[in-house]
Amino acid sequence: KIDGPPVMVNACTGKMGNAVAEAAVRAGLQLVPFSFTGESEAVAIGNIGVSGIPVELVPPEVRQQALEDVRRDYPGLIIIDYTLPQAVNDNASFYSRNGIPFVMGTTGGDRDQLRADVEASGVYAVIAPQMGKQVVAFQATMQMMADQFPGAFAGYKLEVEESHQRSKVDTSGTAKAIVASFRQLGIHFADNEIQKVRDPMAQVDHMHVPENALQGHAFHTYSLRSPDGSVGFQFQHNVCGREIYAEGSVDAVLFLYQQIQQQTQQRLFSMIDVLRAGAMR
Ligand code: NAD
Repeated sequence: KIDGPPVMVNACTGKMGNAVAEAAVRAGLQLVPFSFTGESEAVAIGNIGVSGIPVELVPPEVRQQALEDVRRDYPGLIIIDYTLPQAVNDNASFYSRNGIPFVMGTTGGDRDQLRADVEASGVYAVIAPQMGKQVVAFQATMQMMADQFPGAFAGYKLEVEESHQRSKVDTSGTAKAIVASFRQLGIHFADNEIQKVRDPMAQVDHMHVPENALQGHAFHTYSLRSPDGSVGFQFQHNVCGREIYAEGSVDAVLFLYQQIQQQTQQRLFSMIDVLRAGAMR
């Protein structure tokens, strides 16, 4: 066991939720054996196992009572949320209202509203649509380059390809963030020029995704060419599976736990804050 809080993961039924619950157990944190979930699943499944720990599923209509029981039995708990974009704002305001610190990995929803609600409540939280620490570090580095050297790549042509499991319908948020830095570096490029690769054949043949990662991967290639074609640059970040996000989420929990103990004035954090603190295991 390490010095850390009990952790409740919503929802352990999800792909990320399950991976992060396992990572929390691996890290030696106590897993709260309850998990909020979407309406249909709690009824259909009832109870699931995470690393041999039976976890009871809590449907939305009884979550207030369940949270009060959990808070009594697991004082000091931190919640990790990996649910769905349509649940993100409601869940965050529910945790905030109840004064429970949380790590929000879920993407989408109204992000400005999310930050405003959390800030108004004064609850401790890490909000990060990208928990892969090294990916966040790369993203931040590109932004630093753009801030330091605006226009350095003026005139260059950019090509961006991103490949994810077929179920991901939207364009990679990380690709959009990197593209925003490239724009500041002087390149004309619209978000809708990002090429989404979702066909498994193209993923294997063209993007070189290992077959066993077709169900979960995040591959990105950014290719830059100078106006006369004599200079080329290429950046890639290729992630197989979900481990990197699960491990980053556990780091975020441990970071938040420290901030709470020190009663820091800042209460809302991003993954950049976690990286800056050197809070990596
Ligand atoms: P998933 O569909 O496998 O799981 C979503 C789970 O949320 C389901 O089990 C569902 O029952 C549950 N759920 C739905 N509504 C709920 C509610 N109101 N309360 C509690 N639970 C509810 O999806 P996934 O692949 O695990 O992805 C989940 C989210 O995490 C997505 O937004 C995805 O983009 C994001 N994600 C973030 C990172 C990151 O680094 N931050 C990495 C990967 C995925």
